[in-house]
Amino acid sequence: MTLFDSPAFEGHEGVHAFSDEKTGLKCIIAVHSTARGPAAGGCRMWPYPSADAALEDALRLSRAMSYKNAMADLALGGGKAVVIGDSRTQKTPALFEAFGRAIEDVGGKYWTAEDVGVSPEDLMHARTQTRYVAGLTGHPAASGDPSPVTAEGVFRGIQLGVRRALNRDLDGITVAIQGVGHVGGFLADKLHAAGAKLIVTDVNEEILREVAGRTGAKVVAPAAIFDAEAEVFAPCALGGAVNADTLPRLRAKVIAGGANNQLADPETGRSVYERGLLYLPDYVINGGGIINVAGEIRALDLGEAFDPAWVEMKLSTLMLTLDEVLDRSRTERRPTDQVANEMARARITLAAEQKAAA
Ligand code: NAD
Repeated sequence: MTLFDSPAFEGHEGVHAFSDEKTGLKCIIAVHSTARGPAAGGCRMWPYPSADAALEDALRLSRAMSYKNAMADLALGGGKAVVIGDSRTQKTPALFEAFGRAIEDVGGKYWTAEDVGVSPEDLMHARTQTRYVAGLTGHPAASGDPSPVTAEGVFRGIQLGVRRALNRDLDGITVAIQGVGHVGGFLADKLHAAGAKLIVTDVNEEILREVAGRTGAKVVAPAAIFDAEAEVFAPCALGGAVNADTLPRLRAKVIAGGANNQLADPETGRSVYERGLLYLPDYVINGGGIINVAGEIRALDLGEAFDPAWVEMKLSTLMLTLDEVLDRSRTERRPTDQVANEMARARITLAAEQKAAA
């Protein structure tokens, strides 16, 4: 199969491959869509077993960013960069400077930010070569750590889901959180403050103890979180938490968390729906982080300081969009993830048509 026939490539505007012999950089920048604005999405550094595996990941992730940015109503398209290599042993300042030159070569069609294996410090090196880098600290337009804003969106999403599914507020509700790192940790604090009871797990015992200590959460082993007696299951670790094995074990009525790719596949989305569980689509409920990053891109473009009020306005709009997804799912009797995908695609198509007509 050639690249152009690959299902993952479908809909992509461009894929750029770069190598730099001196620094060892091998990276792929996938631009799925610029219909709504320049493509934006983080850079992942991962020891992919092959260039094909890296390409597949870049394509999958860049399309997901188009959908996420469209649902967050941002003037941004979707893109993603992957750097092939082990972030623990192969990072150098020169490597990320070379990555910065690669971004510059894409000519402003792609803005990068942090993702797995890439830190703000790495991005500072890229920034010396190109302006198309966001998610930094230390300048007036900088947006800093996106996790608290992601967690705030997830918190409001859980409130919405509980109101819809159980007709209650969060006081006295039990939420099971899988993964209490950046997003899960902030989320636990917010839920605790709202009177929710928590059941938490993490493979990192130190973080787990810390979060349980300050929120009074009950701690369970990682494998036991799927059996927790809770009204809400909040996946905040890695992808694929809801799958054919775990779904029958869930006691929750609402699935709402910060992790990306929570459903193992679209069939799982249908099973969730048929079992009567309310799933709040991951890339909608966790859009707070990219909204924060977009706030930095906007500030840089305008030559202004970062504006938290703009971020709040976008986050409030995101919650209205989430509500619309749930409404449509109910009236059209379709899984929420299907509805969200269709809305995202419609927004991107409309923007492309408007751009073509302009
Ligand atoms: P993080 O690494 O800080 O936290 C993830 C936590 O999950 C870690 O503490 C890790 O030990 C734990 N974990 C890993 N495997 C686990 C398992 N099997 N069982 C239990 N715990 C496990 O990452 P984060 O920034 O909090 O992101 C969490 C998720 O949210 C990721 O899927 C990420 O892609 C997504 N996300 C994050 C943001 C953001 O702003 N940080 C934005 C959107 C989406």
